Amino acid sequence: PTPKRIAVVTGSNKGIGLETCRQLLSNGVKVVLTARDEAKGAVALEKLRASAPTDVVFHQLDVTDPRSVDAFANFVKTQFGKLDILVNNAGILGKTPRSQLPPDSVSTGETYQGAEDCLNTNYYGAKRVTEALMPLLLISQSPRIVNVSSIYGKLQHIPSKDLQKEINDVDTLTDDQLDELVQSFLNDFKKGDLGKNGWPTQSSAYRVSKVAVNAYTRLLAKRFPTICCSCVDPGFVKTDMNGNAGILPVQEGAKVVVTAALLPDGSPSGLFYDANHVASY
Ligand code: NDP
Repeated sequence: PTPKRIAVVTGSNKGIGLETCRQLLSNGVKVVLTARDEAKGAVALEKLRASAPTDVVFHQLDVTDPRSVDAFANFVKTQFGKLDILVNNAGILGKTPRSQLPPDSVSTGETYQGAEDCLNTNYYGAKRVTEALMPLLLISQSPRIVNVSSIYGKLQHIPSKDLQKEINDVDTLTDDQLDELVQSFLNDFKKGDLGKNGWPTQSSAYRVSKVAVNAYTRLLAKRFPTICCSCVDPGFVKTDMNGNAGILPVQEGAKVVVTAALLPDGSPSGLFYDANHVASY
């Protein structure tokens, strides 16, 4: 029999990540469920074991903590010696949701610290985990990377046409330039210059983080032609992230993620998918 595929899902103690684990398991994949919080991970593992085939293990992983990421990569290496599927799902909104602000508030709910945390989790976190696990993905016969993005990852969410063009031109864009763009966003946030310099001014860090994740996906696809790399918009899903205001059940959101994770060999790489299949950047 062919050896089982191994998948890692970041931020999988709840929401879309947990359901992604469940669906991967029912497709015969061996899953490493991860959480930054050990206790939350243990509860999620029990939940999953009670409701699905049990080929699942747990390991702590905080995508913002380089030591945690290194220890995790080491665990996957010693346990499995390879990785077939990486789902970068961990994410935060990085702001106080509208619903939790006073009704008369004019605040966007964003702070500089929140913006920095958002970029560090959603963009740099995905990058950190991908880089740490890359040697193990390159050993796989059929590697897949799925970056969970959002409709906010579309370039139209960056008002400046020049910034859009710079980010969209993945033939000339480099990793360093992408990091510099993210850094200049944070600098402009600190100086109060977001609008003036062509950045979004509402949910700004979340939007920039997801636009950066999409661009990163395309850079990965270009650099690693043997890996099928995708980014996905799961849709507006009912989870804690939006105070359960989403309209789709987690099953629908996770289905978009799992479809990209299980794309057949020879599928194109570097594409952005939503529930209606290929989406435009
Ligand atoms: P949830 O808030 O339910 O889940 C987010 C998960 O990410 C939690 O497990 C959380 O852990 C984890 N997480 C946060 N920070 C870290 C970290 N530093 N290290 C490891 N894990 C971390 O939200 P969703 O399930 O909705 O979100 C999953 C992904 O889907 C995100 O990337 C989000 O941006 C994206 N998305 C969601 C949409 C929606 O409508 N729900 C729409 C579009 C995209 P903890 O429990 O410890 O906080």
